[in-house]
Amino acid sequence: MPSFKCKDIGMKCGFTAKAKTQDELLKMIGDHARSVHSLNPVPQETMDKIMKAIKK
Ligand SMILES: [Zn+2]
Repeated sequence: MPSFKCKDIGMKCGFTAKAKTQDELLKMIGDHARSVHSLNPVPQETMDKIMKAIKK
């Protein structure tokens, strides 16, 4: 199951997410980035870090 931890991309944040698919996980991460980190849109550089930090 794909999972993600915000702290894996260097954020001081306790957010973790898990989803059945990577698409679902990316949606959850996107919502979190917008609401908690005020990233709207999420910069490409941050997206790259997120993609690398996702554990499958
Ligand atoms: Zn976070």
